[in-house]
Amino acid sequence: MKEYNVIVVGGGAAGFFAAINIAEQNPQYKVAILERGKEVLGKVKVSGGGRCNVTHAEFVPQELVKYYPRGEKELLGPFHQFMTGDTMAWFGERGVELKIEEDGRMFPVSDSSQTIIDCFLFEAKKHNVDVLTNQGVKTISKRDEAWEIETNHDNFKAEQLLVATGSSPKIWKLLEGLGHSISQPVPSLFTFNIKDNRLKDIPGVVAQNVEVKVLGTDLYSEGPLLVTHWGLSAPAILKLSAFGALELAKRDYKFEVEVNFVKQATADVLEQLKQVKLDSAKKTVFKFPQFDLPKRLWQQLVLASEMTEDSRWGDINRNQLEGLAGQLTQAVFKVDGKSTFKEEFVTAGGVDLKEINFKTFESKLHKNLYLAGEVINIDAVTGGFNFQNAWTGAYIVSKAISSKA
Ligand SMILES: Cc1cc2nc3c(=O)[nH]c(=O)nc-3n(C[C@H](O)[C@H](O)[C@H](O)COP(=O)(O)OP(=O)(O)OC[C@H]3O[C@@H](n4cnc5c(N)ncnc54)[C@H](O)[C@@H]3O)c2cc1C
Repeated sequence: MKEYNVIVVGGGAAGFFAAINIAEQNPQYKVAILERGKEVLGKVKVSGGGRCNVTHAEFVPQELVKYYPRGEKELLGPFHQFMTGDTMAWFGERGVELKIEEDGRMFPVSDSSQTIIDCFLFEAKKHNVDVLTNQGVKTISKRDEAWEIETNHDNFKAEQLLVATGSSPKIWKLLEGLGHSISQPVPSLFTFNIKDNRLKDIPGVVAQNVEVKVLGTDLYSEGPLLVTHWGLSAPAILKLSAFGALELAKRDYKFEVEVNFVKQATADVLEQLKQVKLDSAKKTVFKFPQFDLPKRLWQQLVLASEMTEDSRWGDINRNQLEGLAGQLTQAVFKVDGKSTFKEEFVTAGGVDLKEINFKTFESKLHKNLYLAGEVINIDAVTGGFNFQNAWTGAYIVSKAISSKA
């Protein structure tokens, strides 16, 4: 039986961040990370397209929490303890500068996730954290106030245990065995599959600012919309996929969305179209786009409004005008299925938030059992927020463990 003061299960983002901080704050502690894989930090490596979107330039806790469909209420207190600025400072103090991109996403200036991995491996070594790979945890039990952990190779014992295994069904089962409730895991962050003539020939087209509603629900979002080979993507869709993760899973990813491409009321758009008809009667509708829409998208919407490429503004009838106003403001698309967004996926679900003390990230059911990262029922939209949740939870765990030392 190998004995440690602190064992961290899971060599991912939250696990490393916690282990390093615990060991740094408590040099007298023996700290180990148990990782089931041959390599650690696998998701960090592939994150952000290999660049690692470490966090997001939102510095107000009340604003930052809004990006978390699950965890909004619970993260407010923790973000007052450790959030974006602290993440920047933490990495900066260890020689990793972060830069802010136009959309607020933050990356290492090297544009390489390896920089983050190298930093973590260096810090873990510096603070004598034992990083043990090929140690898939099979059982977790408590005996005489100590945690006993059995892996496929060894047996371990620790006073304090952090479970940071991300979205691992096996570990969720073990935690259920310890009395925890697990909110049903469902995918979050996905794009919508749509087969529709209006989209078929225009992959790559972006409408900069649209409104999207999921019909029959309260789900609503705004932002850029991208036409892909499979359907629709970009923030307007990804936000819906995250905030609607449970609702859309219930519908087996079959539902309808209504897109307002111009963010104006149908009646107002109709009035403007009538004016164009009066002012530009001789021009063809197809070649005379309005509302600052990408030309190819405009043309598809014109064709969907029972006009041809040759229809002139002056010749189109009321039905066609109303049809076009409808396509611009209330275009309905049938979604049938989902696809992965740039290989990035996140799982909504995990340990029930009511069972965690968010001042310490300790289990309310078991003393000296901590949980951080995606193992908890917290997830966010894309943009660096999921890692920020991992850093925040992990840092607070380190403080809580240090306060007991
Ligand atoms: C392709 C991709 C790109 C992403 N890009 C970004 C991004 O740029 N920015 C962002 O904020 N978020 C991103 N995310 C989400 C982010 O990676 C996760 O939210 C984050 O990694 C969660 O951290 P974690 O420590 O909780 O879990 P993980 O990083 O998944 O780590 C969990 C670790 O536990 C180990 N483990 C599991 N079961 C066991 C077991 N039984 N015994 C021992 N070890 C075990 C796993 O092997 C893993 O190493 C991305 C996700 C993906 C899939």
